[in-house]
Amino acid sequence: MTGASPGCDLGPPEARERLLRSLGLKITKTRVRMLELLQLHAIREQHVSAEDLHRQLCDSGENFALATVYRVLGQFEALHIVERHQFDSGRSVFELAKGNDHYHLVSVDDGKVLEFSDPVISERLAAIAANQGFSILEQDLTIYVRPAR
Ligand SMILES: [Zn+2]
Repeated sequence: MTGASPGCDLGPPEARERLLRSLGLKITKTRVRMLELLQLHAIREQHVSAEDLHRQLCDSGENFALATVYRVLGQFEALHIVERHQFDSGRSVFELAKGNDHYHLVSVDDGKVLEFSDPVISERLAAIAANQGFSILEQDLTIYVRPAR
């Protein structure tokens, strides 16, 4: 596991505990398991809702309240290791922060989400902000698409 990019390598459980500790969070079973699930989704480039995470925790025999899942996701988001998106459905989905710029294509037909990176877009967005005297803190570019005919 390297630096601020926890999504790339699942690694041993100790790595997750180290990450939590480095963020000033106490090690709890919920946090460790949620981090592990988020890493698994990151490897598959999937975005996951709190409800789906909760169901997956329950499926693996663990009994966490949905409210706890929401609370931990909120903590992870506040520490910038998790990003929240609200694609078409209006339902929040989450992903581990990857430490690089990436954008989303959302199919309006089936809700499928594809990720892409484009350095030209990233440079343009930075230039637009800079022209107005700003630097980018966060960015979120989502393109809603339909199969081309
Ligand atoms: Zn994404």
